[in-house]
Amino acid sequence: MSRSVRWTIVPRTAPQPWISCSRCDCERPFRSSGKFRVNANGKRIDAWLIYKCSHCDDTWNFPIFERRNRHELEAAAFEALTSNDPELARHFAWDVAGLRSRASRVEEATEFLICKEVQSRGQENARRLELEIVSALPVSTRLDRLLAGGLGLSRSRLLRLHEEGRVAITPGGAAVLRRPVRNGTRVVFDLRELPEACDIARRAAGDGNEN
Ligand SMILES: [Zn+2]
Repeated sequence: MSRSVRWTIVPRTAPQPWISCSRCDCERPFRSSGKFRVNANGKRIDAWLIYKCSHCDDTWNFPIFERRNRHELEAAAFEALTSNDPELARHFAWDVAGLRSRASRVEEATEFLICKEVQSRGQENARRLELEIVSALPVSTRLDRLLAGGLGLSRSRLLRLHEEGRVAITPGGAAVLRRPVRNGTRVVFDLRELPEACDIARRAAGDGNEN
């Protein structure tokens, strides 16, 4: 019987757009201040999420909407904007597509937590380990780094296991281990007669050593 575990990847930081900073006179990564700027001009409303240069704190405004008719905006939404509602600020700070359309590049988080949930524990000496990777928010981490870190293996050991056909990855493809983690990836390990099988199964489930 196999052990099956879901790993949910939770990035520690929001994406950072690279913006030309007028004070630094070069491109810098900017981070969300968590605050909005709202301009009400008669019936029209503009709103931005304020970003700050990571180097000098100069500001850049990320447009959320422009010249929106005040009547189209619900009172609750207006209130959330003017009170810098943290949930709403987080929502826009994770709008990678919107940020990409405004910035030359967007840096995604490289630091993250793995939340490990056992779906089916299987036997103590399970021969198969199935991992389902859920990554709803963008992270730029490579799959081999994620797996090696989460399972307590070296990356070279992981690569060897993959070459030996003990690791099946779906969707796969060339160099899949070196590519960024994708939401919905499934990784199946064949643990038969593997000396570190117990350690891998235990770490996968988050028992003992947390990562
Ligand atoms: Zn700057």
